[in-house]
Amino acid sequence: MKIGVLALQGAFREHMKVLQSLGVEAIEVRLPEHLDGLDGLIIPGGESTAIGKLARTYGFIEPLRQFAQQKAMWGTCAGMIFMAKEISHEGVGRDQPLLEVMDIVVARNAFGRQVDSFEYGLDIPALNNGHAKPFPAVFIRAPQLVQTKGDARVLATLPDGTAVAAQQGKWLVTSFHPELTGDARFHAYFLQLAKSG
Ligand code: GLN
Repeated sequence: MKIGVLALQGAFREHMKVLQSLGVEAIEVRLPEHLDGLDGLIIPGGESTAIGKLARTYGFIEPLRQFAQQKAMWGTCAGMIFMAKEISHEGVGRDQPLLEVMDIVVARNAFGRQVDSFEYGLDIPALNNGHAKPFPAVFIRAPQLVQTKGDARVLATLPDGTAVAAQQGKWLVTSFHPELTGDARFHAYFLQLAKSG
C-alpha cells in the first residue's frame, strides 16, 4: 500500500508519520509524476489559497482531478476546502483555485476569529467509536461543511449540528486535523477506502 501526501504547503509531515506508524509506504508528492502508482492521496491542512496557487503553478490541477476519478483522496482542513466544488461567502470572487471534485459547499474560517482553535471529542459512526471512545478532533481556523450534495454524506457533526466530516465514495474530507492527535483511527479508515479498489 502506497499513499501520497501532497507536500506543497502545510502539515504534510505529520500525515507522513501517522501513515508510517500504520506500516504504509508514505510518499511526499511535490510534482504531478509523484502521483504514479499511489493507492490514495492526502491533501493536508495549511492555507488553502497557498495550496491552490502552488498546485496551479506546478501543473497539479488536472492530474489531481484525474487521480481523484480513480483513487481515494482525503482532504483535511485546508485540503477539504481545496477538494470542494464550492466555497460560500468570503472565498467567492478571490483568486483561489479549487479541485472542484467533491459535492460539498464549505465556508472558510467559519468558527469565527474568537475561536481560532479548539478540540472536541467526536462520535464518528463510521469509526464505530461511540461516545465511550471519542475521536479527538483538533480544529484550527477550521472550515465548516455548509452543504453536502449528490451522494456526499455527512460523517460527523458537532453538538450544534455543524457538519465537520463527509464522505463521497472514495473521497473523505474533515474540517479537523486527525494527524495532530496521535490517534490513527481516521487514517486507518482512509486506508480501507484506498484498499477497496
Ligand atoms: N484557514 C485555513 C484556510 O482557509 C485552513 C486552516 C487549516 O488548514 N488548519 O485555508
